[in-house]
Amino acid sequence: MNFQKKIDFIDLSRQRQTRNAKGYKLGNLINRNLKKVFEHGQYILGPEIFELEEKLCKFVGAKHCISVSSGTDALLLALMALDIKSGDEVITTPFSFISTAEVISLLGAKPIFVDIDPKTYNINPNGIESKINKKTKAILPVSLYGQTADFKKINDVARDHNIPVIEDAAQSFGAIHNEKRSCNLSEIAATSFFPSKPLGCYGDGGACFTNNDELAKKIRRISLHGQEKRYFHTEIGINGRLDTMQAAILLAKLDFYESEIKKRDFFANYYNKKLNAIGIKTTPYIEPHNRSVYAQYTIQINNRKDFQKKLRDCGIPTAVHYPTILPLQPVYESSNNSNNAESNYKNAYQASKNVISLPFHPYLKKSEVDHIVARIKELIEKESDYII
Ligand SMILES: *Cc1c(COP(=O)(O)O)cnc(C)c1O
Repeated sequence: MNFQKKIDFIDLSRQRQTRNAKGYKLGNLINRNLKKVFEHGQYILGPEIFELEEKLCKFVGAKHCISVSSGTDALLLALMALDIKSGDEVITTPFSFISTAEVISLLGAKPIFVDIDPKTYNINPNGIESKINKKTKAILPVSLYGQTADFKKINDVARDHNIPVIEDAAQSFGAIHNEKRSCNLSEIAATSFFPSKPLGCYGDGGACFTNNDELAKKIRRISLHGQEKRYFHTEIGINGRLDTMQAAILLAKLDFYESEIKKRDFFANYYNKKLNAIGIKTTPYIEPHNRSVYAQYTIQINNRKDFQKKLRDCGIPTAVHYPTILPLQPVYESSNNSNNAESNYKNAYQASKNVISLPFHPYLKKSEVDHIVARIKELIEKESDYII
């Protein structure tokens, strides 16, 4: 099969060529929105910011949305709004991007890791209760690869101990858990609009969501330098705003997002069927009450490095999310988190050795998936050891 162009891991240029029901290209709608910003010139806290926040609230079903400068800042603001400070503990997953633990440490608190469920890759809710003590000030589950963590069980434990839950929804914006959207499943949610996330802008961006009026006000205040009114600062904050141009881009993209989620679902199922047919059993497991947005399409393979290289040689890019569990990151090595990490977090450790994400985005072509699966088939026919 001939490809005019090599396969991209995520293809953002094809997204710009997509048309809405009226025939307008998304790329042109973005250009039009940006032109409006250049004309009104309100680059900070322009009208697009508030229009976007309102639409995001509606999409998610949450009462408040505060758009912010990145997913990392969204997490930081959530923790700051809950007054997390030095000496506190926050329970989280060992299997995530560094941001999740980084923001806890940045405030002087300590991440307490609980191993994952090996099927979903999300924190195992049954491991949380035994880690709760007087220092525990929040639980921070991640909805990894686009599937929400088990918020029903997590919220039950949290409620019993009166501890707030923050969802790291950087990869799961738009996902559904028991008929509710990700970002509306806990006290506060933090999402990211980094370009390669399911809903991405053209730079850094993110948002916090909450149904709590006081927390919403506090997050907003902290995101604006702790400013209560102009030049009157009641607490320590950060410069955490989303800029107007990113909001203008997101407004155009949001209108296409629901149909993109359907396409993501279609291609994940298409991959599943094709990969299962060639003997790969580690296709994503999605709980029956969940709908994933597949931020990543991730399987497991033995001898991953070699497998990746061989795919790369056929022009197929892959990625690993994530090769090192958080407790084994050099930055956490000196803390007692890394003692016996390989056995304490054995499911996460195992996953970190074997997970591999394949090219995935809503504008794939069936022929591309066919091509990728055909190359994988050739590789595993030569070397059956790859199969887990
Ligand atoms: C991307 C990501 C973040 C950070 O988002 P940024 O917008 O890049 O700061 C946090 N947590 C998880 C799980 C992520 O995937």
